[in-house]
Amino acid sequence: MPQSPVPVFETADEISPETSVVVILQAARTGFGPRATALDADMSGILSRACSDEAAVGESGTCIDLIAPLAASVRRVIILALGKAETVTELSLARAGGLLAAHLEAKGECSATLVLDPIAGVDLPGAEILARVALGMRLRRYRFDMRNQRQGAGADRTLRVRLVGADGPDLSPALARINAIADGVEYARTLVNLPPNHLHPDNFHDHLEPLREAGIDVEILDTAKLKELGMNAILAVGSGSARPPRVAVLRYRGKGAPAQPLAFVGKGVCFDSGGLCIKRGEQMFDMKADMGGAAAVVGLLIALARQGSPVHVVGVLGIAENMPSGTALKPRDIITTASGQTVEVFDTDAEGRLILADCLYYAASRFNPSAIVDLATLTYSVMRGLGSVFAGLFSTDDAMASRMIAAGEKVGERFWRLPLDQAYDEGLQSPFADIRHHAKDMEDGDAPYAAAFLRRFTEDRPWVHLDIAGKEMADEDRPLGREGATAFGVQMLEEWVQAGRSKS
Ligand code: MN
Ligand code: MN
Repeated sequence: MPQSPVPVFETADEISPETSVVVILQAARTGFGPRATALDADMSGILSRACSDEAAVGESGTCIDLIAPLAASVRRVIILALGKAETVTELSLARAGGLLAAHLEAKGECSATLVLDPIAGVDLPGAEILARVALGMRLRRYRFDMRNQRQGAGADRTLRVRLVGADGPDLSPALARINAIADGVEYARTLVNLPPNHLHPDNFHDHLEPLREAGIDVEILDTAKLKELGMNAILAVGSGSARPPRVAVLRYRGKGAPAQPLAFVGKGVCFDSGGLCIKRGEQMFDMKADMGGAAAVVGLLIALARQGSPVHVVGVLGIAENMPSGTALKPRDIITTASGQTVEVFDTDAEGRLILADCLYYAASRFNPSAIVDLATLTYSVMRGLGSVFAGLFSTDDAMASRMIAAGEKVGERFWRLPLDQAYDEGLQSPFADIRHHAKDMEDGDAPYAAAFLRRFTEDRPWVHLDIAGKEMADEDRPLGREGATAFGVQMLEEWVQAGRSKS
């Protein structure tokens, strides 16, 4: 597996004598707690002198790196600035942890002891503070790597981190949760990072092994089964590829979970060439990532199952390649979808909504879900409209929408609600079929037309459609991840599911 080793976090009561690298978590203008004070004395006051520069510790994530004098018990002390106490949040802590991981890697350090003294004015338990810093360290440390000849293999070594300053009994469940989240995020990233010759409809099921290991039931619907179910829309999208489409059905039910599941539907286009309406070369360069929605659903289920959440969730992944060929889907084809509605096809590059149409209907009609959420790298228009800051959110349910947006703000995956309105349905009328598959003018705000189209297949269940186009890949290193796949959506949905559970 081309995935870097997972960092190991251990709890400890105090700084052990063999420790060589200590990281002090320090908020601005709060002074040193007892552990930092002792270390400062051991280091002849170097720490307090370094922290006397207000600006240096004022910005969260700044690492002040100090080499200890020979007489000191440790070799290196890093002061990790957390910013002003009133600005400390789960997200700011994770980002600081990410920047710390990058700093340790740059210095060639692969073990450290994080030390937390109580911080006045921070409204989070010590265990949560340490766990969120640890989450950021894991997410930033993750590397996807298929090089056979490596330069600088810093991330190849396992990062070992000891955490001091929170009660063990509180820290264990907090670490269990963030490790489960990171397991899900990292695996979703790996699926998206895998090249399209390594991950495609013929072998997608092999890559679902970690789900089975986590206790998630995996069922694959092959061509014969899809035909039997009348899922002609996904079959049509996949018909141009030498590798026929599949649908993966994932089920996880934790102990004590309700009978009615939440359903998550993911767009899993392993490569989108546009089909006969073929894309230009450079528009195709990131199209291996057009399965980012399906990957996020996989990551979410891993995150929930690994922490044994008492939730009932199903995942439905529409897996296909959109390729041009003599058997490919054509403009003006009319397809009978699984729901029975006929769809008149125009631009074959708008393949995602066809796949989702069948998968949404399948999820709604088979599982009696209490709500359906779909994730898809769906439209260029949402990227043009919202840029790289927000992803688009459409919903039939105001409460679901606002709780999801709040969950996203908490973890740094931001969503902006866009209109789901009958007026868009009027633009989807066809004289020959029940519905046309996009508006007459694709430049006329395609994203809300796509949402209006999808709603026709949800069987009136409470529903949220997340258009994550452009968020699935980052073209530069960020505090919570390197360049490459982001697994956008996993953290927000994990937070949303957990928050909804503690509410009911
Ligand atoms: Mn497309
Ligand atoms: Mn696509």
